[in-house]
Amino acid sequence: MANNTPKAIRGTQDIFGPDAEAFSHVVETFERVRKLYRFRRAEMPVFEKTEVFARAIGETTDVVSKEMYSFEDRGGESLTLRPEFTAGIARAYLTNGWQQHAPLKLATHGPLFRYERPQKGRYRQFHQIDAEIIGAGEPQADVELLAMADQLLRELGISGVTLQLNTLGDGETRGAWRAALIEYFSKVRGDLSEDSQERLEKNPLRILDSKDRRDKAFLADAPRIDEFLSDEAGIFFEDVKSGLKAAGVEFKRAESLVRGLDYYRHTAFEFIPDEGSAAADALGAQSTVLGGGRYDGLMESLGGPATPAVGWAAGIERLAMLVGEREADRPDIVVVVENDAMLGEATKALSKLRAEGFSADMIATGSERKRFTKAQKMDARSIVSFVSSESVKIQGERQSEIESVLA
Ligand code: ATP
Ligand code: MG
Repeated sequence: MANNTPKAIRGTQDIFGPDAEAFSHVVETFERVRKLYRFRRAEMPVFEKTEVFARAIGETTDVVSKEMYSFEDRGGESLTLRPEFTAGIARAYLTNGWQQHAPLKLATHGPLFRYERPQKGRYRQFHQIDAEIIGAGEPQADVELLAMADQLLRELGISGVTLQLNTLGDGETRGAWRAALIEYFSKVRGDLSEDSQERLEKNPLRILDSKDRRDKAFLADAPRIDEFLSDEAGIFFEDVKSGLKAAGVEFKRAESLVRGLDYYRHTAFEFIPDEGSAAADALGAQSTVLGGGRYDGLMESLGGPATPAVGWAAGIERLAMLVGEREADRPDIVVVVENDAMLGEATKALSKLRAEGFSADMIATGSERKRFTKAQKMDARSIVSFVSSESVKIQGERQSEIESVLA
């Protein structure tokens, strides 16, 4: 490589070969499963006005305060490359009047950008699949969304990953719990990590999420959400749990699971590898595969009407790591031109075969004598070789089918 060839940006990836096959397998499986659950596809822009994320996600979150790729465009407007899907989807829902379709089940996938410290399973441009149910306030929506996630992981053959489920209660619950956490952690303030001392004022729930040993010492005795659940929030959570049981979705209660973003209410969840599982080994420290929850307050933060909604997102790269490297599918057919005079005939045949749905490649370059051996190495299910106008040979599977396509 010449010294003046530009390098890729730190934290970005060029994906090719078995990793690219695994990536595309995740996306294709997602597309298939979202259709089974009747989620509609939507595409949103990769960038939005910065305020979309600042208002929807919340200024005190890590994503907004530290991780956004924001810049001024030539018109002097502050724009941000999307760090997540939900805020942009909510903006689109409001600006396009998608209320008319409520309850609206939406699915999308694509690239996201966060200024993070790159490491295994953590990039600055990464990709997610995403599913949302907007305009549905019933626990049944949470169940539907989680059943879809669960089926997706099963269809991808991913095991050793468990759904960790919690409730953050309604506004009333969350407020009371928050006050109790502030009171509890204030007493030991000096012994907390610097980050958590800061969180204490801005976002005390996040302390429960801390990986720092200094904070962990105080987590076991911290006030529990269950002590503060309003009757309504308690019933909602019971309905979600019984719905999941009915749908055959296994889960574990995770009392200290809080999600990083401010907008969550009621249900919060993450699919996390079980300790000691192959999935945990594959992912290393970046353990959350899929996460989400209910965000009933988000639309209002963007100036819209109160709109209940629930959603999740999963990192495609992390799912692909769990799927493992994949080979491209074997071709159905390789067409070999063993005689250059037959190139036209062979090209015609190749078009017909592909039009009938056979995946097919052609070998027509290099020494004529060596082409058949080359074709054999391609591991196709069948070989069609063009030797002369009198001699077209079909070998391998589905011979009579191929013959009738070519006739
Ligand atoms: P983490 O705790 O790993 O930082 P998060 O809570 O920030 O994750 P979400 O915002 O909930 O993640 O995004 C959902 C999913 O997107 C994560 O579970 C993960 O699979 C994936 N993800 C998030 N950030 C990255 C990243 N920088 N690189 C690759 N995948 C990511
Ligand atoms: Mg993060």
